[in-house]
Amino acid sequence: MKERLNVAVQKAGRLFDGSLELLKAGGIYINNGKDQLKASSHNFPLDVLYLRNSDIPQYVVDGVADIGIVGSNLLIEKESDVEIIEELNFSKCRLSIAVPKGMEYRSIKDLQNKKIATSYPHTLKKYLKEHNVEAEIHVISGSVEIAPNIGLSDAICDLVSSGSTLFKNGLVEKDVLLTSQAVVIKNKNLSKAKEAIIDQVMFRIRTILRARKSKYILLNAPNDKIGVISQILPVLKSPTVLPLAIEGWSSIHSVIDENKFWDVIDQLKEAGAEGILIVPIEKIVI
Ligand code: AMP
Repeated sequence: MKERLNVAVQKAGRLFDGSLELLKAGGIYINNGKDQLKASSHNFPLDVLYLRNSDIPQYVVDGVADIGIVGSNLLIEKESDVEIIEELNFSKCRLSIAVPKGMEYRSIKDLQNKKIATSYPHTLKKYLKEHNVEAEIHVISGSVEIAPNIGLSDAICDLVSSGSTLFKNGLVEKDVLLTSQAVVIKNKNLSKAKEAIIDQVMFRIRTILRARKSKYILLNAPNDKIGVISQILPVLKSPTVLPLAIEGWSSIHSVIDENKFWDVIDQLKEAGAEGILIVPIEKIVI
């Protein structure tokens, strides 16, 4: 029988949509039956295991799943012996200490002998030890942010992304213990056949990630400005220059990093660029 790759993804929750979208964008179609724990792709040698987020690292360590998609915060909490093979740039968050608004907090030392509620006791314990702080850790698995309001703890250590949940619960973010994002993890002892399938999957995933970070830019410029504009553009290689129907003008095309666009837009306009278009890219193969 031909080798197939087992991929662990979160059954429900924040990482579910992003994980499946990535496979789909890579042309890997999963035959999803409702409430199935395992589903197969009919067009790629890959099966998806739908698991609880917190179980995924161990399934990958044990080799039940070959690769998995998890938040990197979980790997630190569980000190999982897996290899991170790609950062996926979604589900970005940070693990932070937060305290009730109005509570005096100059540093983590102010939590000496206090109670802290968290779902990440191991990471918190290490942080407290590094700062020589003794505190009582209350482990709760969800809705950590209500703990101070109901008198369960003085502070919390929880995942934050926009900060709106903290705000709604009258909490203020203080120390950041770590930052996290969705990552692909891999078992360390895989056969050559499985590694070859992973290479194919990762090629597709990287092609999509690259495209998500980039935009296609088109602009018009007088021919005598092509040199200066080409220097401003943070391009992949060298821009494409095509003549316009109007004498002395060209259309310049290139690919730029989305984040860098805002840094150079004013310079481009000053240098004489007109009619600037920014267009999304679906895939980039290099
Ligand atoms: P959940 O679906 O709540 O079990 O969270 C799964 C993963 O999503 C976590 O391990 C984090 O890596 C990530 N995540 C991203 N943003 C947040 C957030 N604001 N709160 C909780 N988890 C988050």
